[in-house]
Amino acid sequence: QRMVYAANVVKHYHTGELEVPALRGVSVDIWAGEFVAIMGPSGNGKSTLMNCLSGIDTIDSGLVIVDGYEIHALSDKARTAHRAKRMGFVFQGFNLIPVLTAVENVELPLLAASVKPAEARRRAVAMLARVGLDDRAHHRPGELSGGQQQRVAIARALVGNPAVVWADEPTGNLDSSTATAIVELFVELTAGGHTVVIVTHDPAIAARAHRVIDMVDGRVVPV
Ligand code: ADP
Ligand code: ADP
Repeated sequence: QRMVYAANVVKHYHTGELEVPALRGVSVDIWAGEFVAIMGPSGNGKSTLMNCLSGIDTIDSGLVIVDGYEIHALSDKARTAHRAKRMGFVFQGFNLIPVLTAVENVELPLLAASVKPAEARRRAVAMLARVGLDDRAHHRPGELSGGQQQRVAIARALVGNPAVVWADEPTGNLDSSTATAIVELFVELTAGGHTVVIVTHDPAIAARAHRVIDMVDGRVVPV
């Protein structure tokens, strides 16, 4: 079963008078349950590709279908709803809400999806236990190490059992032993059928993926 399909995606950024090409005709095909790493030098379109595939960003031309939805053809509202329901996100900077505790951060996507508070709390607590943070549930992000904050972010990304998980440099802010632990946890938690797309500079991280997509100058390098 196909989970992510993109054909001839073109994307420019407009900065003042300048038009910066970021994607120059990218096609990708990712199957359900695959763990794919997008690699390549800085500034070559990796994050842009991920953002266009997940519907965070719009495209200039081409086609993006995720989980059966034509992402590029949805309204902003429908795209946002599709993301919330079917996708999980992990970022380099963790993007946790600083005034909320770990468990409050994790339950947020469930509450946004109208899961009842008691049920959301139960599931968030269980998810924190799975990432090894049961004893940190009531700490705020500022009271946690970087590795712990990323575990909270992973719990938040997975708590809604998304079809696709997008992770943009999830280990970029972590030292190498913490990064290894985080990617192992990520691999273990997503092995149950999630489709995972990760952007990374780190060959050791990419080595954990089933497949690597190499980007250079806004294009996928043919294998
Ligand atoms: P990578 O993830 O490989 O580092 P990006 O996708 O971030 O690359 O960037 C691809 C190109 O698009 C680069 O030339 C970058 O400078 C440009 N770019 C990325 N985001 C923006 C933006 N918001 N506005 C203008 N240019 C951007
Ligand atoms: P890691 O090995 O994951 O990098 P650290 O050595 O940074 O962990 O942190 C060790 C312990 O100190 C952790 O249990 C963490 O909860 C706690 N800790 C880290 N930073 C802070 C902080 N700013 N305030 C309170 N506790 C902290």
